[in-house]
Amino acid sequence: TPVAIVCIGMAGSGKTTFMQRLVSHLYTHPDPTDPIPTVSKTPSTPPYILNLDPAVHHIPFTPNIDIRDSVNYKEVMKQFNLGPNGGILTSLNLFSTKIDQVIALLEKRTSPPPVVPVVEQSTVEFMTGKGKAAAQSPPGQGQGQTQQVKHILIDTPGQIEVFVWSASGEILLSSLASTFPTVIAYIIDTPRTTSTSTFMSNMLYACSILYKTKLPMILVFNKTDAQNADFAKEWMTDFEAFQDALRNEEEGGSFGGEGSAVGGGSGYMGSLLNSMSLVLDEFYKHLSVVGVSAMTGDGMDEFFKSVQEKKEEFERDYKPELERRK
Ligand code: GDP
Ligand code: MG
Repeated sequence: TPVAIVCIGMAGSGKTTFMQRLVSHLYTHPDPTDPIPTVSKTPSTPPYILNLDPAVHHIPFTPNIDIRDSVNYKEVMKQFNLGPNGGILTSLNLFSTKIDQVIALLEKRTSPPPVVPVVEQSTVEFMTGKGKAAAQSPPGQGQGQTQQVKHILIDTPGQIEVFVWSASGEILLSSLASTFPTVIAYIIDTPRTTSTSTFMSNMLYACSILYKTKLPMILVFNKTDAQNADFAKEWMTDFEAFQDALRNEEEGGSFGGEGSAVGGGSGYMGSLLNSMSLVLDEFYKHLSVVGVSAMTGDGMDEFFKSVQEKKEEFERDYKPELERRK
């Protein structure tokens, strides 16, 4: 069975660049966990790509289903008199009403290849003014038509909360997860997470998404070309390492220096972070953590290994739970 990988993360964390890296990795590695690239560019495991960001200008890959073909975000903003966030949310709402058609397309592409190649004609369309032509499958993928898809890759809107905390985001995710093993890749901007307080904020957000979506999660520390992610892995496995970092930052005056309300070992901020790291310990145990660079491709084999593990975890732990809830 195929696995669906949903990329979620703060704006600018590198979701789209990471998607591009996933695509190119799958095109050069028939077995994604095999670190040696193949010369042939014919993918034995072609990904099926969904773009759910209605407001993105340029995508460095060709999605098979693109929300922009169905909904014109600018037009939605104009017609409903909305700002950018409202526009994204409303576009996502409109798109989610057609999720059954999207799932049907996915099912068609992930079942064993039919004798006659399937030519997709998406009817998922609102307010594009572009007509049917826009919704046809992208050029250059005719070859892949008869191949069985093993990876479904999903890019989400830059504004994380619009996807995670909206009804339509939930509909999209739960429809997906009731059809395919689904894994969340939570993308983190590593260079911007090196202080104990930004690190903790990011972990709390990831934690809230884990409990909101109830899906297996991989923490993807991106941009390792700019900042090594070892510090993060260490903080997540060794409580004392995190405490040391806290102490160092306090001495360095990051929290306002000596005498300040938040500074000092007994300061409010220090002790808050301290207790939170104890609480998050349980949460950390449920996660896979990988460091990657979407830019250079570093860490991709490890990522796909985690995907395999999380897929098995989905089948074993999450699926029975999902069925019970139905
Ligand atoms: P998104 O908003 O999450 O989709 O983020 P983008 O993929 O658009 O990336 C945001 C910025 O981060 C862009 O300027 C990218 O070039 C940069 N970026 C993404 N991945 C990497 C990476 O692995 N290393 C570095 N150095 N920059 C990256
Ligand atoms: Mg993006």
